[in-house]
Amino acid sequence: MIRRTKIVATLGPSSSDAKILDKMMEAGLDVVRLNFSHGSAQDHIERAELVRSLARARGRAIGVLADLQGPKIRVGKFAEGKITLAVGDTFILDANCTLGNQERVGLDYKDLPSDLERGATLLLDDGRIEMWVEDVHGAEIICRVVQGGVLSNNKGINRKGGGLSATALTEKDMEDIRTAAAFQADYVAVSFPRSAADMELARQLLREAGGYGMLVAKIERAEAVTALEEIVMASDAVMVARGDLGVEVGDAAVPALQKRIIRVARKYNKPVITATQMLESMIQNPIPTRAEVSDVANAVLDGTDAVMLSAETAAGYYPVEAIAAMHRVCLEAEKESESEYSCNRMDTDVARVDESVALAAIFTATHLSNVRAIAALTQSGSTCLWMSRISTAVPIYALTPEVATRRKATLYRGVYPINFQQDSHNRDALLIAAEEELRRRGAVRDGDLIVLTIGEPIGQSGGTNTMKIVKVGAYKHPSR
Ligand code: PGA
Ligand code: MN
Repeated sequence: MIRRTKIVATLGPSSSDAKILDKMMEAGLDVVRLNFSHGSAQDHIERAELVRSLARARGRAIGVLADLQGPKIRVGKFAEGKITLAVGDTFILDANCTLGNQERVGLDYKDLPSDLERGATLLLDDGRIEMWVEDVHGAEIICRVVQGGVLSNNKGINRKGGGLSATALTEKDMEDIRTAAAFQADYVAVSFPRSAADMELARQLLREAGGYGMLVAKIERAEAVTALEEIVMASDAVMVARGDLGVEVGDAAVPALQKRIIRVARKYNKPVITATQMLESMIQNPIPTRAEVSDVANAVLDGTDAVMLSAETAAGYYPVEAIAAMHRVCLEAEKESESEYSCNRMDTDVARVDESVALAAIFTATHLSNVRAIAALTQSGSTCLWMSRISTAVPIYALTPEVATRRKATLYRGVYPINFQQDSHNRDALLIAAEEELRRRGAVRDGDLIVLTIGEPIGQSGGTNTMKIVKVGAYKHPSR
């Protein structure tokens, strides 16, 4: 049985060694996330190269996702590294302060005071500390601590309910987009977008820098929930970024939002990643909690394309075990019939020929008995992306000579990229070669049905116009 849901893992100190990375691939890693909030450009370039060389050695594709830091607003540093705040303390966030102490700390976003007024609630360090804004005087935000704790250097600040005006792309992000283009990241994730315009700007910068990557919108601001449809439409993929989202909209609102975001992403043919704290306890422990297992399984049942690991693989003690745990939980959840059929797209019209062939193929494969594989001979990968928006138990093989297409398809639910040279311009010869390729890999046996899609003239992007159903072994050609 092959797993359909994809696994994204963040790289970091726990997963930079070639041996560990190779074991992570063996355990089921599909896409690596390079987190630009940490490390230098050179670190990321080297990691991307290492991952790709290991993937080549294994004869498979691994996607690389560059995740931009975005305008995460942070406190500055403290003279002592950290302080402890008690309930009722007065504490000042001061845009002009250079080194913090028990009374005040600096801010990396100097305009924060003008975004706030008396009565606002601020959440620091992912909500562990809460402050109520009593007053704003020039560069000073005077706060009352509502929930105390330890506050250390560079911790994040969110405003409950959203409404901070920091633009989605910082100077650093723009520089990092150029880095991502330089190593040809397959995906570039934009943090804290508020609107379609933020995604369009990132796309423009990436293309200008020569990058081909798909743009991922991280839904993690209250405003992004309001503008969800336009942001999804302006993006190539979506991430349910539950960490910051939970801080902005309240943790209790996240589970239902996750379902909504996944539904909207699928509606617009966009792949979607469910992220953050999925197996959080595995940072320290070799096995997950029941609640975590349930969370991963529920994301699968919600129809996510991928589940993501953050600190579990970047900084935890059990990066390989975390991937293995996700693998087995996804496999089990996929047995539920809910993930084998869906009515998605059944009652919407289709404007494109290639899309209609993709939908026809997936309908046929799901409803005709004995179909064991779908084979999409594709250039851009759009055909297999459309197919993967419909839940099915039949594996979708993306047969393509394009390495970029194979790497992008690593994120699509139920799609398995295969390196397939389309040398011949003879349709029948190509379809027979495709059948042979699937038989050689053990994906099909004599007597099984394969649903194939192809475009004529052969080798052109966006040209899929044909579907053919073949019985494996029925055509005896000279090579066998
Ligand atoms: P981050 O994004 O890990 O970059 O903050 C994910 C999230 O907020 O959930
Ligand atoms: Mn985030």
